[in-house]
Amino acid sequence: MAMCTGCLFIITAPSGTGKTSLVSALLENDPELRLSISYTSRPPREGEEEGRDYHFVSRERFEKMQISGDFLESAEVYGNWYGTSQRWISETMQSGQDIVLEIDCQGAAQVRKFFPQSVGIFVLPPSASALEERLLARNKDTADVIRRRLKAVREEVSHINEFDYVIINSILEDAIHDLICVVRAERLKRARQLQLQKNQVLISQLTSF
Ligand code: 5GP
Repeated sequence: MAMCTGCLFIITAPSGTGKTSLVSALLENDPELRLSISYTSRPPREGEEEGRDYHFVSRERFEKMQISGDFLESAEVYGNWYGTSQRWISETMQSGQDIVLEIDCQGAAQVRKFFPQSVGIFVLPPSASALEERLLARNKDTADVIRRRLKAVREEVSHINEFDYVIINSILEDAIHDLICVVRAERLKRARQLQLQKNQVLISQLTSF
């Protein structure tokens, strides 16, 4: 079978939007999707596992990897570095599998340069107060840290026009369904459908009457 290229989904959301729960529900629903595991210089949080949540590396190692060109994109977010493995992406894409990237808007902009066909999905909280409440409930950050995170939200949301889809995470089940629908719709696009050999055979049968 001819080598085909998979879809690349970029999911971006302000911190506290519930993006991680959304993405894990999406992956559970769709075993064909592959989640890119990022490298980060951030130390693991309680319950996080090497290789499942991130590849945790020291800042020095991260910088060396950056210099060696190991990253498709990398960015500093809230004082820590994050990067997407160039090799993993190209190998997974070549094999025709669909990829999910859970990255910030700086990373999304870099990826879009290399893969203009990528699909950008921006997730929003239902309201500013809901976001503030989620941030307050989630951690024991000082008011100052929360204020900084909310400022970062403002910056992040200012990039919304760079994305193809917007999903409001008001009711989790609905937002999961929306996300599943976006993935499904992208797979149904003509260019994608005609990449599949069985569909090419179908078209040639239908045009040979
Ligand atoms: P956290 O430290 O809470 O897991 O993630 C902080 C932020 O970094 C989130 O907005 C997340 O989307 C972003 N992020 C995670 N991995 C990457 C990556 O590989 N590249 C970029 N640019 N951002 C990332």
